Amino acid sequence: METPLHTLLQKKFHLAAFRPGQLEIIEALLEKNCLLCIQPTGYGKSLLYQLTSCLLGGTTLVVSPLLALIRDQINQLTNRFQITAASINSDQTEEENEAAQREALAGRIQILFVSPEQLDHLERLQFLLQLSITLFVIDEAHCISTWGHDFRPSYRHILQFSQALKQKNPKLKILGLTATADERVEQDIAKQLSSIQHSVHVWREKMDRPNLHLSILPAAGTAAKLAICQTLLSKLTGHGLIYCATRENTELVADFLQEQKVSIIAYHAGLESEEKRNIQSAFAENTYRVIAATTALGMGIDKKDLRFIIHFDIPGSITAYYQEVGRSGRDGLPAKGILLYDPADQKIQTYFIDSALPKKEDFQAALTVIRDSSEPLNLTSIKRLTGLHPTRTTLVLAELLDQQAIKKELIKKTQAYSLLDEQKPLDLSRYTTQHLIRSEELSKMVFYAEQTTDCRMKLLRCALGDPTSASCNRCDACQKSSFNSIPDSTIATDWLKKRPVLIPEMKIQKVSSGFSLFDGKIRTEPFIRFMKKRAITEEMDDEILQILLHKTKDLIGTIGAIAPLPSNTWKAQQNFAKKLAAHLQAPLLSDLLTWETLPDKRQGELLNNDQRHYNVHKKMRAFLQHPLPANKILLLFDDYLGSGATIKEAARCLRTVTQAPLMPLTIAQIKWHLGKPGFI
Ligand SMILES: [Zn+2]
Repeated sequence: METPLHTLLQKKFHLAAFRPGQLEIIEALLEKNCLLCIQPTGYGKSLLYQLTSCLLGGTTLVVSPLLALIRDQINQLTNRFQITAASINSDQTEEENEAAQREALAGRIQILFVSPEQLDHLERLQFLLQLSITLFVIDEAHCISTWGHDFRPSYRHILQFSQALKQKNPKLKILGLTATADERVEQDIAKQLSSIQHSVHVWREKMDRPNLHLSILPAAGTAAKLAICQTLLSKLTGHGLIYCATRENTELVADFLQEQKVSIIAYHAGLESEEKRNIQSAFAENTYRVIAATTALGMGIDKKDLRFIIHFDIPGSITAYYQEVGRSGRDGLPAKGILLYDPADQKIQTYFIDSALPKKEDFQAALTVIRDSSEPLNLTSIKRLTGLHPTRTTLVLAELLDQQAIKKELIKKTQAYSLLDEQKPLDLSRYTTQHLIRSEELSKMVFYAEQTTDCRMKLLRCALGDPTSASCNRCDACQKSSFNSIPDSTIATDWLKKRPVLIPEMKIQKVSSGFSLFDGKIRTEPFIRFMKKRAITEEMDDEILQILLHKTKDLIGTIGAIAPLPSNTWKAQQNFAKKLAAHLQAPLLSDLLTWETLPDKRQGELLNNDQRHYNVHKKMRAFLQHPLPANKILLLFDDYLGSGATIKEAARCLRTVTQAPLMPLTIAQIKWHLGKPGFI
């Protein structure tokens, strides 16, 4: 039947027909005012507000954390559909944001996208309230629920803000969108939205993805996983993603597979914005076949023809897994979701949960150091004094501000925190809830990976609040199939051993990039031996010496001198340094760097990198007897690199005596725990 909505769809959006559910949802939104829509990714959720926006006039405001996708969408809206759209977010320059504000104030923007963090800024809120907003869209609405797997503190401001919008325009329409809300989350979101709009209408689609084939491949250790990826990529066709839990793993996977002639690139939050954008558009244009990404890629990839999603590491929650695996096959053609499962990987996810969520003691610790200080404290001092994990500190402070236990003010251009005079009791229940939810979500994920009898699609659907009795008849559990031949991982094992472990450049003191012999995350025998014997014996481990000499042979002729970093615990340092100096034919300057004041503690005993920095900062001294040869490298030699604080301190005092190029070389590279002592 032709309706005005159909006509609009064809004329404005050049589409012949609505996808299942779309028309009904738009009609419900027009009629009900407040709608929560739960549907799998790939069902065309953007059209829901784009089309409604054309009918309502005024401005549609979309709060979305998915900045990358917004960029594509704005281009499409402007160029293809002649709908004026703009965005305000921290990825844009101040000029771009100001231009967007001007246009919106003049009433020339039909759809305005803002990131939730923008609602933290008071002046931004005031500006948004000046617009004539007719439709308010909350993308990824599960983030407002503390029962959700991805609760975001910045989403807390959304409710207050929408109440203000509603007061200004009683006819305001509100649309919450999510692909991941089970029944408990659904009820919680609906309850929260009902504080703005009395009755909330919920629309739920089935969570089945009939073209998706799910399977699990057991893999013990990094080398085995790399070998499996290599084999899989030689068998699979088309483009796809490999999701990894950490930035380092995306680099590792991309480096290895590039060497095996796979067209692949790494993507993670550490890349520059422009680089990220370039990778996304290159992938969209099929320049790369695969991206190895952390979840930072999020929905940034709007590519409908992904044929596979491989998980190199187990994701932290079953909801996240559904969302990530659901990015493949959005064109409706067959696609594969493969999870490489090593039971040991649970540890890293448990660590993520523990480090992200503050505990009662953490709030107390922050309050105590703020109370005990004679002046307002900045973030770095609070991190140093409490020893809390950096992410946690930020969360704790945001919460304390929100609950009006502390205040912040600008002192010498830095934000500083102090206690408010009147203390209210803290309500920390949401953190207990979140800890419970995240642990539950992880156990569901582990169950998904470990069991082999229940249909995997059925497990996912149930976890997503879509209970079903039907099996998919496609997954490895339904088909009783498995990946029988475990590929030979010799190539990957050798590659891992030889892979240089880069030490990134440190721009502040002009330290060029260097390298370590061993990566602490890949626990090779020599690495474990080194860490065990480091503080015990002066004798050199012959295998390690040979590796050191082999890996430094390309440096012969480029080194002006070798400066060991002062160490009290590495007993064999001088012996190694002498051998290295002879090998590199460069003088050994054992007395160049010394401690002027001994650090109070060993770096390993400390709790976070701010404490490690403070422990060594301005404590070394450099004394140069003869000038160093011009243009030759001064090699800084140490046992291991953790936070980089000791190398930075060495560079700081060396810069008072020489401008020679500095390069760090360490036996091992480790990652410190943050918020507790020791390394990961
Ligand atoms: Zn199945």
